[in-house]
Amino acid sequence: MSTPAKTPDGDPWLLTPGPLSTSSAVKRAMLHDLGSRDQGFIDVTQRVRAGLLKIANGGAAHTCVPVQGSGTFVVEAMLGTLLPRTGRLLNLVNGAYGRRVSRICTMLGRHCQELSTAEDQPLDPMLVDRALRADPQLSHAHLVYCETTSGILNPLAEIAAVVAGHGRALLVDAMSAFGALPVDMHLPGLQAVTASANKCLEGVPGLGFCIAATDALRAAAGNAHSLSLDLQDQWQALERNGQWRFTPPVQCLLALDQALMELAQEGGPAARLRRYARNCSVLVEGMGGLGFTPYLKSVVQAPIIVTFLMPAAPAFRFETFYQGLNRRGYVIYPGKLTGRDTFRIGCIGRLDETVMRGLLQAVREVLAEMKLLPLPL
Ligand SMILES: *Cc1c(COP(=O)(O)O)cnc(C)c1O
Repeated sequence: MSTPAKTPDGDPWLLTPGPLSTSSAVKRAMLHDLGSRDQGFIDVTQRVRAGLLKIANGGAAHTCVPVQGSGTFVVEAMLGTLLPRTGRLLNLVNGAYGRRVSRICTMLGRHCQELSTAEDQPLDPMLVDRALRADPQLSHAHLVYCETTSGILNPLAEIAAVVAGHGRALLVDAMSAFGALPVDMHLPGLQAVTASANKCLEGVPGLGFCIAATDALRAAAGNAHSLSLDLQDQWQALERNGQWRFTPPVQCLLALDQALMELAQEGGPAARLRRYARNCSVLVEGMGGLGFTPYLKSVVQAPIIVTFLMPAAPAFRFETFYQGLNRRGYVIYPGKLTGRDTFRIGCIGRLDETVMRGLLQAVREVLAEMKLLPLPL
């Protein structure tokens, strides 16, 4: 076996949905201590909020509220803050992250009605139309833009149009899309979008954020079930003096500030999406050549993470495959689907098609080691 592949910083390549491989400069940006009340840090917070807002094409009627924690924290904060206690949510589900929203609503005591489709099918705007027409009490809908469970892309703009047509508000989990796939706060009906620092933005884990219509946030005072996850209160404090209410993830913000600079240098989300799309096509083509089948049809596949069916050969042991790749410096991800045995390989993070080709070579070596080259049909 050749020496393991390594990132410029000596780490294995993370082909995962996040946390993922970040640039050296992003990691170096964290080598500072800043007081959370210092003007320097207040400026960083302000710059990052403005940068995130700009990526989402937000205007004067929108704001960006960061929240400490992983992505789920900000999803929970958005639901708890923007759904009034009497609100009723139509939750559009085709994967585990959609199902998680239902769980959160149950815990928060918010009414939630699921509209589910199969995990390999995008949510259908016509079904959303029918559900909203049937129940005028539904005040909001929630959509996961890219369902990381499978890697499927849901039709955000079409569903926003349907939700707006019924005069309801759309909440979106854009966690694994934001920074690459287009997000436009001017889409009719779109009230709020959540994402986190450590996916397509290529920052480090530690914070999420919600970009929301300010009128909706203003109207949300008193909704929240939780002090620390009250987005309205968090927003008010930030607007008052630029400071976070509670200890901010200072180094994570410094890293995100650098990551946003690198996103702009790359040419913005459209250019990043092109790099990821190239990673994805090299991956799918190469894995196909080795006998692996993607779970999704290519028309619904987002270039973020690819789910592959577990090969049928009895001698194929995922644990052996995973460890073999690991020893060669590539970290992949287990599957998360209900009902199908799969594994996943991410296309996002600070990596390009050279890394993908290295991974494909490692897959070839591991299959040979497992005496499964070529993979039997
Ligand atoms: C990553 C992700 C989340 C948040 O997960 P955390 O583990 O809490 O960071 C939420 N939704 C989607 C679609 C995701 O990909």
